[in-house]
Amino acid sequence: MMPPEFSKSPTMEMFETEKDVVQTPSVSKNTRNGQKSWKNLWYYFGEQDLKWFNIFLLFTIHGYVLYVLLVVHKFIGSLLIFHFFYTQFSGFGITGGAHRYYTHKAFKAKIPLRIIMMLGFTSTGQNSIFHWVRDHRVHHKFSDTDADPHNAARGFFFSHCGWLLMKKHPDVIEQGKKVDMTDVLEDPVVQFHEKYFVPLWLIFCHIIPIVTPWYFLNVDLLDCFNYQMVRWVFTVNVTWSVNSAAHLWGNRPYDKSIYPAENRLVSLLGFGEGWHNYHHTFPWDYKAAELSWWLNTTGIYLNFFRAVGWAYDLKTPSKELIERIVRKTGDGSHFRWGQEVLEEEEERVLLKEE
Ligand SMILES: [Zn+2]
Ligand SMILES: [Zn+2]
Repeated sequence: MMPPEFSKSPTMEMFETEKDVVQTPSVSKNTRNGQKSWKNLWYYFGEQDLKWFNIFLLFTIHGYVLYVLLVVHKFIGSLLIFHFFYTQFSGFGITGGAHRYYTHKAFKAKIPLRIIMMLGFTSTGQNSIFHWVRDHRVHHKFSDTDADPHNAARGFFFSHCGWLLMKKHPDVIEQGKKVDMTDVLEDPVVQFHEKYFVPLWLIFCHIIPIVTPWYFLNVDLLDCFNYQMVRWVFTVNVTWSVNSAAHLWGNRPYDKSIYPAENRLVSLLGFGEGWHNYHHTFPWDYKAAELSWWLNTTGIYLNFFRAVGWAYDLKTPSKELIERIVRKTGDGSHFRWGQEVLEEEEERVLLKEE
């Protein structure tokens, strides 16, 4: 069955040429000191100063969550259901809002949707939209080089959370200053978010998810706090996995020359953000994946908001462009054209040998 997103619709902008495919600028890769080895920790941790406060915070929060999961170990069905729904709000806010809308401008959104996405993003308990978008734009432009804030060439730990525990590489700071953020800062929803960041962060990331089940579901306050901590740590770790696991493990059907890969587990947990080889090839596609429905919760939500009329002008490439790119740069693992890519490659090798 053909996925519906390829049919031309008046609300979808189609991109047909290879110029629309992202070309990563040639920045020198792997400029770490010395050899990549477990013994040479310098390679992974770099020369930057450590941020001891962040190390303390991360260690304490993760330690507490491990204690809750392994020692307290309390199953409360109503809390679990509450947090499942609250995670939908957070997950959509970060993937649909900060990522696909604000960073990549993959669609246009009316103000009610922008408010939902901003509040959902705030409930993840991460940085402000400005910082998140700026870092992510630099990440795409200089993927897996020293100028990438979470350069996956420095290994799993650095790209997962290590980058938050040390001062930024000078190249990241330099390139971050050059990022054009005017479109984001002009948005009144972002202006409101930046102005009231701390109270919004406290209310939506902590107070609402702790107080609501305590008041309405009659759950013990400490249990509400514990479940909230687990949800928070789970959400940030899934977000980090897009930068770590989805840059290291998986197949590369669209561009075999880049780190980002198609990672099913990250897609399942991360609302469809694990189809990362596709996303780095077509970052402006609102689906962030070739299929809008397969392990792509955000794709499904965006299709819903398109039907409601709050999301419009959703960008997506034509099927022909995807096929051309798969045949040109893919690793032969594409679900539709993979086998043909491998056969074409074999033919090319045989012709060369003759
Ligand atoms: Zn990435
Ligand atoms: Zn992106």
